[in-house]
Amino acid sequence: MRGLQYSSLAKVTKLRIASHLLAAFGVCWIYYPFVHIAILGGWLAALGGTLYYGAQIDNALVDADRRRIGKDEVQSQTRAAIANALVWVSTLALFSPYGDLKAQLELWAVCAMLMTACAVMLPAVPLANLMFAGIVGIGAIVSFIYAHSFEMVVVSMLFIAVVVRGAIENARSFLTARVAEAGMAERNEVVSLLLKEFEEGEADWLWQIDTSRRVRSVSPRFAFALGLASDEIDGKPFIQLVAGPAWETGQFPSSLHDLAERLKRRESFSNLLVRVTIGGHQRWWELSGTPKLDDDGNFDGFRGVGSDVTEQRESSDKIAHMARYDTLTGLPNRMMVTEALGEAMRYADQWRTRCAFLMIDLDRFKAVNDTLGHLLGDQLLAKVSERLRSIVSDNELCGRLGGDEFAVVVRDASDHTRVERVARAVIEVLSRPYEIDHHTLYIGASVGSAIGPRDGSTVETLMRNADLALYRSKEEGGGQHFGYEPELHALAEERRKLEFSLRRALERDEFVLNYQPVVDAADENIVSFEALLRWNSEEHGLVSPAKFIPLAEDTRLIVPIGEWVLREACREAVRWPGNVKVAVNVSGEQLLDTHFIQSVVSALHQTGLAAQRLEIEVTESIFVRDAITARAALEQIMALGCGIALDDFGTGYSSLAYIRNLRFSTIKVDRSFVQGAATGSPESLAIIRAVVAMAESLEMSTTAEGVETEAELHVIRQLGCRKIQGYYYGRPMPAVEARALFGVPTLQRVSA
Ligand code: C2E
Ligand code: MG
Ligand code: MG
Repeated sequence: MRGLQYSSLAKVTKLRIASHLLAAFGVCWIYYPFVHIAILGGWLAALGGTLYYGAQIDNALVDADRRRIGKDEVQSQTRAAIANALVWVSTLALFSPYGDLKAQLELWAVCAMLMTACAVMLPAVPLANLMFAGIVGIGAIVSFIYAHSFEMVVVSMLFIAVVVRGAIENARSFLTARVAEAGMAERNEVVSLLLKEFEEGEADWLWQIDTSRRVRSVSPRFAFALGLASDEIDGKPFIQLVAGPAWETGQFPSSLHDLAERLKRRESFSNLLVRVTIGGHQRWWELSGTPKLDDDGNFDGFRGVGSDVTEQRESSDKIAHMARYDTLTGLPNRMMVTEALGEAMRYADQWRTRCAFLMIDLDRFKAVNDTLGHLLGDQLLAKVSERLRSIVSDNELCGRLGGDEFAVVVRDASDHTRVERVARAVIEVLSRPYEIDHHTLYIGASVGSAIGPRDGSTVETLMRNADLALYRSKEEGGGQHFGYEPELHALAEERRKLEFSLRRALERDEFVLNYQPVVDAADENIVSFEALLRWNSEEHGLVSPAKFIPLAEDTRLIVPIGEWVLREACREAVRWPGNVKVAVNVSGEQLLDTHFIQSVVSALHQTGLAAQRLEIEVTESIFVRDAITARAALEQIMALGCGIALDDFGTGYSSLAYIRNLRFSTIKVDRSFVQGAATGSPESLAIIRAVVAMAESLEMSTTAEGVETEAELHVIRQLGCRKIQGYYYGRPMPAVEARALFGVPTLQRVSA
């Protein structure tokens, strides 16, 4: 408001200065005969100074309506007015004594005219006007009192009262006018914005309805949008025109219902998205509207703008769909699964029930993807999702989290057996063979589950805990379901610590190799030693290979560790008699590593061990991951002259085909069959017999693993295994003890 007031000052500055100068001219004329010219000149200069100062301030306030004006600005404006008034008072004080009463009356007339002029010209600054009128008026009154002209005192008082009153009134009406002006400008802006929007086609048509919500004054564009002629529309209920068949049934889409409600309640609305039916087609309209009032302020219907936003809406629907669904499988993606789980958890919380989250990972999917290509992998994933979809009920939502990871959200898991049932169904249905592109593919599934809110009160914790359970089931070999247990956290934590230590174990020199003898079944002479890794950790003590080898494989630490084992075993074997071999275990991760062959070559080269004396032990699991690369690597090793042993035969994904295709030097029959055979299990006996027979025909050797007792030894010998390894002949032992078996008494003698 102040801004509005002050900004108008500059407009009248010139006029104001002119009136002051005119008055000053009058004063000079009146007092020229009485007052010395120098005094008149000084007075004129003082007046000029205050006018100049005032004009400066007014000019600085030109933009006051567009910014905040400071207190000091208001104060200096008032100061200028006071200074100016004081100059005028000084005329009364200085000049009156010189002149006669006539001159004094003339001076008063000039001052009174100036006061009036200011009050008229400067309605914006009532305070300055009041000051001016007050100061000059009081000066005049005082001067009349001095001159004993009491009737003039009364006249002056009345005049000043009138001027003051007039200035206040003038200021008030000035302000009202300015405020109204500002409001008008704002309204104009809104109207022009609306018009612009309308013209630019963002709003496509205007619509209007009467008090009974019937369409009136139909615009051609509105008629076009409705697909009807104007006269067909006029007078029809608005809702009927856009509801389509829903008008008869009364079952409006919720957005249309919302529109009807607002019209009924006479509420204005903007950009309301409404689903309408035009000519039998579903469309989306965006409508804005305000109640219309007649001249007496009574409700007179609605008026508004609208546009058809079906296209935008459809493309944004598509984007929304893409953001929530996986493109490859069409299943809900991680985002939607997370949302659904959040929803399920809220529901469970509200109704004191439980929900569940199942995390699914495909077993051996990577092998398929690596060997048969991504195209086939993608097809497989699509089949997997089809099967998943086929088994979930309304109570569940299945989705793909990414890669070969899927998930199921069970909304209501209050039935204890439900999760187990779903998990088992998932494993069962996903493990059935797949027929894709003339390939028959076998994969499996592992499932980990967590129950909410018991196993986690937030979506994140529940997902993490299901993941822990999944990890456990993978660790157990896959194809199983594990539920979350709090101990899994401790296990995971322990694993993390173990991994931390394992990363340093090599540089800290915490590994040692033990050697277990393998003897000839016929003459009981030592034919080889198997190098078995031992880790004596500073933090964890002696850690079993069963624990740290899988960890080293997962973290790929097995690659550097395995290299060390290879070198160390070769270095030790050089010290043994030339006919004794060394067997080194090699994991799939090592074999698939591109530098593996090179590390074998350099171990042999550095130690000078003959290639024929090195035997690499692999398990069947390597063929599952990437059979082609694994075979190629093994063939290269054989080409060097090394032997290849198939370890733990019978425990894995056994297929005798592996044996036939690759020329293994030795098949190691797993300890479980040895035990079985000793207790007379027909299967164990049959398997050992078959393996021995086949090995013989392919000129391969057989080793029975884990022979502990006389009885076991006896059976194995009868079955025809060529070599025997087990506690019966010797446990894995430190290198020194192994050497001692050859009658080499001390370390010194060997190195000498
Ligand atoms: P494996 O290659 O099958 O090794 C034989 C395992 O059977 C050894 O366990 C050995 O101590 C044990 N064993 C031998 N005779 C008997 C017996 O009469 N009775 C019983 N109950 N057990 C017997 P260990 O040393 O605990 O090694 C376990 C597994 O760790 C090995 O199985 C092998 O797969 C892996 N491993 C050991 N060292 C290495 C290594 O340097 N590299 C790799 N990649 N894996 C290794
Ligand atoms: Mg082995
Ligand atoms: Mg073994």
